[in-house]
Amino acid sequence: MDLVLRNARIFADHAADRLDVAINRGRIAAIGPALLADGPQIDLAGRLLAPGLVETHIHLDKTCIIERCHPVEGTIAEAVAQTAAAKRAFTEEDIYARATRTLEKCLVNGTMLMRTHVEIDPGIGLRGFAAIQQLAADYAWAIDIEICAFPQEGLTNNPGTEELLAECLRGGARVLGAVPYTDSDPRGQIEKIFAMARDFDVDIDMHLDLGDTPDGMQIEYVCEQTAAHRWGGRVAVGHVTRLSAAPSAQFNAIARRLADAGVAVTVLPSTDLYLTGRGQDHSVMRGVTAAHRLIAHGVNCSLSTNNVLNPFTPYGDASLLRMANLYANVCHVSRPHELAECFAMLTTRSAKLMRRADYGIAVGRPADLTVFDCADAGAAVAEVVAPLLGLKNGRLTFTRPRATLRPQRGGDDAEGMRQVLAG
Ligand SMILES: [Zn+2]
Repeated sequence: MDLVLRNARIFADHAADRLDVAINRGRIAAIGPALLADGPQIDLAGRLLAPGLVETHIHLDKTCIIERCHPVEGTIAEAVAQTAAAKRAFTEEDIYARATRTLEKCLVNGTMLMRTHVEIDPGIGLRGFAAIQQLAADYAWAIDIEICAFPQEGLTNNPGTEELLAECLRGGARVLGAVPYTDSDPRGQIEKIFAMARDFDVDIDMHLDLGDTPDGMQIEYVCEQTAAHRWGGRVAVGHVTRLSAAPSAQFNAIARRLADAGVAVTVLPSTDLYLTGRGQDHSVMRGVTAAHRLIAHGVNCSLSTNNVLNPFTPYGDASLLRMANLYANVCHVSRPHELAECFAMLTTRSAKLMRRADYGIAVGRPADLTVFDCADAGAAVAEVVAPLLGLKNGRLTFTRPRATLRPQRGGDDAEGMRQVLAG
């Protein structure tokens, strides 16, 4: 064996037991108690061993532009307008450099599989697509990045966009995105996206139903289109903040509809908190849809980061664990199994949304693993535990040593400070 991990608590199936995991040629070769296996041995001492974290919805191309923008209102309309203005100055080199900053933060937080949404329109052309494709190739040693091409500034009202989207799909984009709320004809855009997805045999991942009220939602129309095109299991929608404002009966009915149609939901807590309720001056709504309540109805859900340091979300460290903790706080998650479900929305549920059958800790699958300094997934979410290290295809891709206390033990203080400041 190339490596044997001893005494792991494995997410999710065997969390109660301590098991060994043997890795050979980049794949998991064996799992069991007290494995007879040669090779380098590492004792995890009962720590949580999880599959690499999964980001299903992030925008690397427009990250780290907050210093070029000046958000005042914090509304969606302002974010779209300020980002569109900043985008005019984007070059391939600039996109690559900013995306690298955020991607490296994702990596040290344990992310190993990602769907990044890239803006495509005649203004930006294919610059964002080319830069992110290059980035994906350069970081393939640490992460599997899938591109979702999407028309942030409209499709039916923006001539030339459809042809560019088609070029991306021919050139390696694996998913087609949408933003019906910026289109002059929202339903026209939804229909066009389904038709293109079928022509190119790709999955769909839409930005949908951002707003403060349950009025005018498109989610049921997306379910209808999914059924009509028999695209169940291949459609995801992000945000759906309007659903968070729906009364229980309406919420439950839509949840059942989503489950029946096979439409998954991605909740983006940081952005949804930042952009919703801007018209209210007290008891401000939070706008985060209760994914764990959707799961109870049979809907598949994921939690993701969306934006980092731009007018849609001027915060962020790209930590999915922090996002799950934020979600748990805002959505009143309290029971242990619901906390563990939050971890599943960063891992197994997200991989299912991306239709990755090869994902997870099982014999024969790639050894894409993270080790957390806690005993179970619920604790990881509750305490925002950072991973200590990660392995991609069995090779160490990052380490993240625990913080160190130094209780008056003498020695060379200056040298200790120098070491930590030098990083
Ligand atoms: Zn988004």
